[in-house]
Amino acid sequence: MKTVKNNNTEETIVAIIGAGISGLTLATFLQKAGITCIVLERRNRSYIEMRQRAGVVDARAVRMFERWDLADKLLAGPVATTIDYRLNGKGRIFKIAEDVGSSSRFCTQQMLVGNLMRELIDNMAGDVRFDVSDVVIYNEEGGCPKVTYSDANGSHELVCCYIAGCDADRGISRTSIPEGVITRYTHEFGYAWLAALVEAPVIGDPIMAISDHGCVAQLPRGPHRSRYYLQCPLGDNASDWTNDRIWNEIRLRLNDETIQNAVVHDKFIVPLRSVVYAPMQYRNLFLVGDAAHLVPPTSAKGMNLALYDVDILSQAILKAVQDKDTSALENYSEIVLPHIWNYQDFAVWMTDMMHDAGDPTQNGTFRQQIARARLDNLFNSETAAHLHSEYQRGTN
Ligand SMILES: Cc1cc2nc3c(=O)[nH]c(=O)nc-3n(C[C@H](O)[C@H](O)[C@H](O)COP(=O)(O)OP(=O)(O)OC[C@H]3O[C@@H](n4cnc5c(N)ncnc54)[C@H](O)[C@@H]3O)c2cc1C
Repeated sequence: MKTVKNNNTEETIVAIIGAGISGLTLATFLQKAGITCIVLERRNRSYIEMRQRAGVVDARAVRMFERWDLADKLLAGPVATTIDYRLNGKGRIFKIAEDVGSSSRFCTQQMLVGNLMRELIDNMAGDVRFDVSDVVIYNEEGGCPKVTYSDANGSHELVCCYIAGCDADRGISRTSIPEGVITRYTHEFGYAWLAALVEAPVIGDPIMAISDHGCVAQLPRGPHRSRYYLQCPLGDNASDWTNDRIWNEIRLRLNDETIQNAVVHDKFIVPLRSVVYAPMQYRNLFLVGDAAHLVPPTSAKGMNLALYDVDILSQAILKAVQDKDTSALENYSEIVLPHIWNYQDFAVWMTDMMHDAGDPTQNGTFRQQIARARLDNLFNSETAAHLHSEYQRGTN
C-alpha cells in the first residue's frame, strides 16, 4: 500500500526511475499485480510520447505481454517476416522462418509508450511523476532504500523496498553504485549511423543494404513513414547531413535513381557500440534496459532486451512480495545476463557483416570477403538461416 508519512515522505514498495519503455512496462505489470510503485521521470509526458526509436516487439516480448493479458491492448498487428538483404543494389529476400506460438508484432516504440501510459495512468490510476529533478538514490546496507527528488512543489522522499533503475545510459541509477562494484564491458565499432525518420513508407520489404559506399537500412515506422540508417564516420554531426545529401546517399547506396526526396522529420547520429554492465544489481537497486546494456541498432534488439529484463525483474519482485521468496531477486543479474550476452553476439555478428561487407576502407578486403560469405550463408545453409530466424524472431 502507498502511505503518505508526512507532507514530503511517502512509502511505496517499488520506486522506478525513468518512464521509458522499461519503467512503464514494469510499473504496468506491478500495478496490475497490486504491488504499489511510483515512477519518477525527468521529462514531461508529451516529450516521452513523441520519442521515436524501435519498431518491432519480438516474439518473446509478445509472449510476455500475452501472459499479462495486455498484448492486444498494447501492440499492433503482425510484422513483416522478410528482409531484403541487398549488395550493391542487388536484392535477395530472406524469409524469417515461422515458429509455433506467438509471432513478433509491429509496434513503434512511440506507440507502445503511448499505449502503456494510457493503460497505466489513465486506466489503472498508476502513479507516474513527470518533470522531476535532482533524483538521488540511498541504498545503504541493511537500511530501507530511499529516493529523494524535487519538483515544482519542493523536495520529496520515497521510502521503498526496491528501486528499479530504468533511466537508460545517462541516468543516475547506475552511477549511484559505488565504484568497483560493476564492470563495464564494451566494444566500439569505429563508425556511426545517421538515423533519419522520413515521410516515405517502406515499399516492399524492409531493407538492409550493403554497398561499396557504406551500409544503408530502411525500416518501417508506420504506414507513411520509415527510418533510414546511413553508416557515417564517428565524427559526423547531424548538421553535416543536409536533406539533399541524405537522399543522394540513399540513391547511391541502394543503386536506385528512382527514389524521390521526401520530408525528413528528424535526424541524429548514433555511435555504434556494444556495452554490458555486470552485475546488474547492487543491494536493493536493480538495473533494467539501457541502464545496464546497449546494443547497436543494427540488431533492432535494444527495446526487446529492456523488455526481457522487465519480464525477469517483475516475476522476481512478485515472488519476493507475494511469497516472501527473494531468491529470484538475489539472482536477477545471473538470470538475465546470459540472454543479454547471447544477443550481444547476434548484434556484433549483424553489425560486422553489414559494414565489413561494404566499404573495404573500413576493415580491409579480407574482412569484406568473409562478411560477404556470411551473408551468402544465410541463403545457402538451412542451419544458418534457421539460427538467423531464431534471433530475428527473438526466440533464441
Ligand atoms: C535510433 C535508435 C533506433 C533504435 N531502434 C531499435 C529497434 O529497432 N529495436 C529495438 O528493440 N530497439 C531499438 N533501439 C533501442 C531502444 O530504443 C532502447 O533500447 C530502449 O528505449 C531502452 O529502454 P529503456 O527503458 O531502458 O530506456 P528509455 O526508453 O531511454 O527510457 C529511459 C527514461 O529514463 C528517463 N531518465 C533518464 N535520466 C533520468 C533521471 N535522472 N531521473 C528521472 N528519469 C530519468 C529518460 O527521460 C527516459 O524517459 C533504438 C535506439 C535508437 C537510439
